[in-house]
Amino acid sequence: MSRSDVSGDDENALECTECLDPADAFALVGNETRLAILEALWAADDGPVSFSELRREVGMRDSAQFNYHLQKLTGHFVIQRSDGYAFKHAGEKVVRSVIAGSFNEHPSLEPFPVEGTCFACEGPLQAVYEDERLSIECPDCGHGHGEYAFPPGGLNDRTREEIADAFDQRVRHLHCLAADGVCPECSGRMGTHVVETDEDCCLGAAVRVDHECVQCGHTLCSAAGLRLLDHSAVVSFHRERGISLDERPYWTLPWCVSDEHTEVRERDPYRLAVCIPLAGDELRVTMNGDLDVLETRVERGD
Ligand SMILES: [Zn+2]
Ligand SMILES: [Zn+2]
Repeated sequence: MSRSDVSGDDENALECTECLDPADAFALVGNETRLAILEALWAADDGPVSFSELRREVGMRDSAQFNYHLQKLTGHFVIQRSDGYAFKHAGEKVVRSVIAGSFNEHPSLEPFPVEGTCFACEGPLQAVYEDERLSIECPDCGHGHGEYAFPPGGLNDRTREEIADAFDQRVRHLHCLAADGVCPECSGRMGTHVVETDEDCCLGAAVRVDHECVQCGHTLCSAAGLRLLDHSAVVSFHRERGISLDERPYWTLPWCVSDEHTEVRERDPYRLAVCIPLAGDELRVTMNGDLDVLETRVERGD
């Protein structure tokens, strides 16, 4: 793949002149020997792997045939350096996808109870795993408390409690990236929009925030409060009242999963307020439509 037109002021700074068609890319790795080469590179310790070592690992006697397959990968998935062969990002992604299990595992996991209660009816919550997505749901009233893709590889070697914990971390990090404008799938530019309708939303929230990637179309939705989980004023407001936010799953915090704590103060441009009650006091956080925090204020109760 050759890239050109790298310039600072060009709107599209990196233009790909000989990009591979996706179907051709899949065809290139749709071969056992080539996958074995990528897996051998993965298994090798850091640094490039020589031709002969790679061939030995893959276990192919015919040097010419091995070279044919290796050359097919070279350029797009693998790069040839003076001291051997190494991954390009796309090659590493292929192996990671195989490891994540998306292509070859169909695990089933019965719904299991998780910490916390439903923000709407205070019933118990459960984690449901379906179609490689994990969601936190209330079986009593049906309210969702967030869902996200969770590759089957994430279920390996984990107890149910650890799966729930890993899911919590994953949701926090992916939403954090998205709110910072970086697509968690492709690193493309992500836009943030305030949406006022409860259609197409896993939370059933009438006021929510959608992040959408302009490059690959990946979308995430959340309550506006989810953005605040690592904001310093929000963290210290909780810490001063005995709660460590990084030890609480996000779904146990109603302002992260429901719109009840979100007020639309102004439209065009948007101005939102998230009100977080705790121990008789209330923290009011004002944000703009991009979820930048404009102001925080603690109202003390009597
Ligand atoms: Zn409920
Ligand atoms: Zn994307």
